[in-house]
Formats: sequence, structure tokens, C-alpha cells
Amino acid sequence: FHQSMPAKSYIYALPYEYYEKDKVRRYGFHGTSHKYVAGRAAAMLGKPIEELKLISCHLGNGSSVTAIDGGKSVDTSMGFTPLVGLPMGTRCGDLDPGVMQFIMNKYNMSADDCLTMLNKKSGVLALSDGVSSDFRDLDAAAEKGNEAAQLALDKFAYEVRKYIGAYAAALGGVDCIVFTAGVGENSGSMRASICDGLEYLGVKLDAEKNKLRGEETIISTPDSKVTVWVIPTNEELMIAQDTAALTK
Ligand code: AMP
Repeated sequence: FHQSMPAKSYIYALPYEYYEKDKVRRYGFHGTSHKYVAGRAAAMLGKPIEELKLISCHLGNGSSVTAIDGGKSVDTSMGFTPLVGLPMGTRCGDLDPGVMQFIMNKYNMSADDCLTMLNKKSGVLALSDGVSSDFRDLDAAAEKGNEAAQLALDKFAYEVRKYIGAYAAALGGVDCIVFTAGVGENSGSMRASICDGLEYLGVKLDAEKNKLRGEETIISTPDSKVTVWVIPTNEELMIAQDTAALTK
């Protein structure tokens, strides 16, 4: 799905040989999920997907945001590996590579060990000071006044909001925002927190509808310029449909 990204999205500002010889570039992940929810949003709106500017937020244990223009992925937050973009359950997300060098030197750590730490011991697990990588536990701890858990939730929402803003700029506007995967489908509080501050973009959430969980539904108000959806992902169905299309 992400193969439609233009060069300006997928190229890294590194010496060209790493791209030409070694194919080091942004690839993106969760393509099956982003494709599925984009198609569902268009179908339920009754509009040709070619006419829609869409931002899909796959927020689960792994998380990524994708900018979709006319049904095609034009940018996505994960990269050469799934480590970058949003902070995730245990992955760090976007990080200055200089931090790696500093930590490796200071703690005499190998690159592999450092990457294991960035993949498995970071993200909201680390931000919450070890409370959990599970957003349900973070919600419960934050409700009891755990400040680190609250910071983890705030940081996650802030980073998703930043990607939405960036992709609205990349797309030159946005018609639909879609939330999917474990957190995106189930956590009304996280969706509200992400959308809080996006009013300038034309996003108006319906607080009652936003309480719904795990069903295909519009959670924005009728006068919201941007239609906000919850769409449970169905990667298995998408894979089956793609396979059927390929074999025809
Ligand atoms: P996934 O990777 O899509 O299976 O999503 C898994 C993540 O969804 C879990 O780590 C949970 O943190 C999160 N999740 C599932 N249900 C809820 C919920 N009701 N509220 C908040 N987070 C949830």
C-alpha cells in the first residue's frame, strides 16, 4: 500500500548510495490496515475514494499514521523499520540518532543492544516509568493520580496530533480522520485527547458518539468540516480481497 509514496516522502536525507545500493528508504508498515479503513470510510460516505483526503491513525501496540490522497498512501509515520514515528507500547518512535550514540558510548552498549532497548523497553512503557505498555493500565493508573502514566498518555496524544497536523499540511487539507486498532477503536478518552486542539482544522467531536467502542461509526458532529471515524480494522479480509483480486 505504501509503495505509492512519492520520492520526497520515502527518501531519507542520507548519502544517495544507501538508497541506490542498499534500498535504505521509508517503507512504512500497517499498509493492509490503512488500506482497509480508508476503503471502508469512502464506501460508507458513498464517495469515490479518489476524491478524498484521508488521515488514518492505526493506534495499537504498534502505531502509525498515514496520509492517503485519493486512495493512495502519500506518507506514513513508520520507516525503514517500525521503530519510528509515534511512541508505541514499547517502541520509542521518532528519536534524534545522536541519542543512540550518547547512550551507547556512556553505557558501553552495542548497537544491537541499544536497538533492543529502543524497541522493547521504550515507548509508553518507559514514559510511564514501567507502569505498562497497555493503554488500559495507563488509563487506570492515571485515574489514580499516577503522573508518569498521565505523561505517557499526554505524550502519545500529542505526537498523534502532531502527525495529523503534518499530514493535513502534506495533503493540503483533510476530509476524514479514521481511528483504528486496539487504542483507536476502543479508547474514547484517547481519541478525545488527540482531537482536542484540532478544532482549527475543522474537527468537532460528538462527545456522546465518541463513547462508542469497536463499531464502525462517525464520531464527529454533523457540522464538523472533517468527518472523524472509528473503523475496526480487518486485515484478514483485506488480505483475502487482495489475494482474490490478484488471482483474477
Ligand atoms: P492492537 O495492537 O491493535 O491489538 O492493540 C492492542 C492495544 O490496544 C493494547 O495494548 C491496549 O493498550 C489497547 N486497548 C485495547 N482495548 C483498549 C481500551 N478499552 N482502552 C484503551 N486501550 C485499549
